[in-house]
Amino acid sequence: MESSQYWLVVRNSSMAFKQLFILLFVLFFWSSCSNEVKTPKEVKQLDQIENQAHIIWYWEDTFSQFEKFKLKQWIKSTLEATEKMLGVYPFTIHCTFHLSDADHPVPFGKTSRKKGVNEVHFYVNPSFELIDYEKDYTAQHELSHLSIPFINRDNLWFSEGYATYLSRLILVDQGYYAADKFDSLYFHKISDYPGVFNSSTATFTQVMDSLMEHHYYSHIYFGGSSFFYQVDKQLQLNDQSLSEVIRAYQKQNRLTDKRLPHVLASFDEISKSSYFTDMYAVYCNKTAAESLSLFFK
Ligand SMILES: [Zn+2]
Repeated sequence: MESSQYWLVVRNSSMAFKQLFILLFVLFFWSSCSNEVKTPKEVKQLDQIENQAHIIWYWEDTFSQFEKFKLKQWIKSTLEATEKMLGVYPFTIHCTFHLSDADHPVPFGKTSRKKGVNEVHFYVNPSFELIDYEKDYTAQHELSHLSIPFINRDNLWFSEGYATYLSRLILVDQGYYAADKFDSLYFHKISDYPGVFNSSTATFTQVMDSLMEHHYYSHIYFGGSSFFYQVDKQLQLNDQSLSEVIRAYQKQNRLTDKRLPHVLASFDEISKSSYFTDMYAVYCNKTAAESLSLFFK
């Protein structure tokens, strides 16, 4: 082969390669677009979500436009349900998504309220359907945390019990959890572990400390939620409810309270009772068996 012919072949094959490359690029672009938002209605919805000042979105890893749309829909509908139950939050929520390859729609979530910035983080596997995220409790749980200030780790049972109780309440209201199972969930989670929760020597908080040492978080979450279950029952006997108190709290002291005693005092003030501080004193000073006697009758 002569050199001029050789270069012609090379040039022709390089042009063919270029055309193939362009074709592949167009095909790739078209296929990725076909996965994205398509109808004008969906585009409008996405714009509305984007322009919602109440949530600022952050993407720690790479997500497709379609995945972003789906995840935003999920958080938007969950926040609506949360605020319907707990009142409109008087602050902007900073929502960050992280990629996870776990075989679960939301394997992990966390919140942060450092320097008055209310953050919520979700680790998600973006391959699930929207309904799978909505029925999962993680967003209801994390968003519920934000309705009160940060409670220090010594009182982890309080803050986790709070979010555990409220997330189930929201799920019931959303129709994702059966109302008649709500009470039995708490009785089941507590009364099925008499060895843990029925101590006649240790106080409730001492039991929680011991569970913390052994990393029995599930028991801490449901043990802590018993506090809110019991206070809610007391409020209901007085034609009030815990969610009503928390809704009023968003308008009153949410942005000024700093510590747990402030929150308890505010809740008492709103409910015109001493249920919250009284129950807290019981959980700190009485035995677990006495604190949780309702569940062992
Ligand atoms: Zn939590």
